[in-house]
Amino acid sequence: MKLSLVVPCYNEQDNVEKFYTETVKAFAGSDFSYEFVFVNDGSKDNTLKALKKLYDEHKESNIKVIGFSRNFGKEAAMYAGLSNAKGDYVCVIDADLQQRPEVALQMVNILDENEEYDCVAAYQEERKESKMMITLKNAFYKLINKITEVDFVSGASDFRTFRRSMVEAILNMTEYHRFSKGIFSWVGFNTKFIPYEVQERESGVSNWNVWKLFKYALEGIISFTTAPLKFATGVGTLAFFASIIYTLIIVIRHFVWGVDVAGYDSIVALILMFGGLQLLCVGILGEYLAKVYVQVKNRPVYIISKMYSYEEI
Ligand code: UDP
Ligand code: MG
Repeated sequence: MKLSLVVPCYNEQDNVEKFYTETVKAFAGSDFSYEFVFVNDGSKDNTLKALKKLYDEHKESNIKVIGFSRNFGKEAAMYAGLSNAKGDYVCVIDADLQQRPEVALQMVNILDENEEYDCVAAYQEERKESKMMITLKNAFYKLINKITEVDFVSGASDFRTFRRSMVEAILNMTEYHRFSKGIFSWVGFNTKFIPYEVQERESGVSNWNVWKLFKYALEGIISFTTAPLKFATGVGTLAFFASIIYTLIIVIRHFVWGVDVAGYDSIVALILMFGGLQLLCVGILGEYLAKVYVQVKNRPVYIISKMYSYEEI
């Protein structure tokens, strides 16, 4: 098997069939064997039914359908797909046809012709988003690149094709909180970035909004760096030294110039400021503790409830 197409699907009932036909059409001219690994991520609509129908009606294609017991998120779906892919190359592609299968073929060709690359990743050259969204996302990439040792490429998507060696490396990272953009760059290997144009969604709605993106960004920062913890230490140290200097000033003013300590207002302001800072730092600690808590429980990243496969399972 040369190529596996890993397709995470969440509420994509109207897209999967179209995705299948478009992909088969795009790959018609190529002479290698490939398989589809569809992952139904606990969709609330009839995606699983639509996938089962595809599986039943196209025995000529190599189709695997993995059905989760509930929604575990795209990260988990990708992980399940990679775990069950057999191909020498594995391509992760969305089901909504925003990412064209023709580009996947282009990725395969690049890997074929360039021994030195282990991964080809698509990035959006032009983002079709609001100005605010673009500014926010750029700020996030700037920040995360500054505070982590791994490189995050702005606009890079999960639309990627990996060589087997890189897939194995990714599968070896079994952490529960998966931030794949970080994982993909953490494992290293040589990645070639190619620009692609994001298409309009075929049908259905995107699952992202500003709040979800914000949480995703925080998740990424906490999963990939301990910089926020260092921030707490830094601020604490600064405040400590500032307080020593301030105490000295007060003592000198009292004994040398005889000025009494005044200021109810300033005390209240300081208490509020440091109270707030302390809570913030405890909160940061709590975020890490929560991650450790979930990780030590060692729960599976996903649970499969249904599986159909062209291969004997
Ligand atoms: N997806 C998933 N689980 C989720 C959310 C999304 O498997 O909980 C899939 C979805 O079906 C699609 C891909 O991930 O194939 C990208 O999702 P979406 O189109 O909502 O994101 P966008 O393209 O807007 O970034
Ligand atoms: Mg999409």
